[in-house]
Amino acid sequence: MEKTNTILSRRKNLSIERCSCCDNIILYHKNLLLKFSPKSFQKFTSTLIDLDFNKRSITFADGTERMVINTQQKEVQMCFQKSEFKTICYALEEASVMLEVNDILYT
Ligand SMILES: [Zn+2]
Repeated sequence: MEKTNTILSRRKNLSIERCSCCDNIILYHKNLLLKFSPKSFQKFTSTLIDLDFNKRSITFADGTERMVINTQQKEVQMCFQKSEFKTICYALEEASVMLEVNDILYT
């Protein structure tokens, strides 16, 4: 039977999982999928949760406040509304704790 990914955190539209074949961490949100090494995942998490939404958000043409976040790929940026940003921060923190627990238990 094919191994399935380990779920580290799941909230509506958002899932953070550890790949079954390697240590990579996969984050998907609707149709966006990001793949991290364990190290780059930690860096992404600590960078993101330190961002101040109120300082960094801008008003988009539709009137919504969103924060734009650059990725390694200069053509690709993510943008979050405040509630989405909170959700992703909670999920990232939860996933980080799960990873630490897994490391303590299985290594
Ligand atoms: Zn893999």
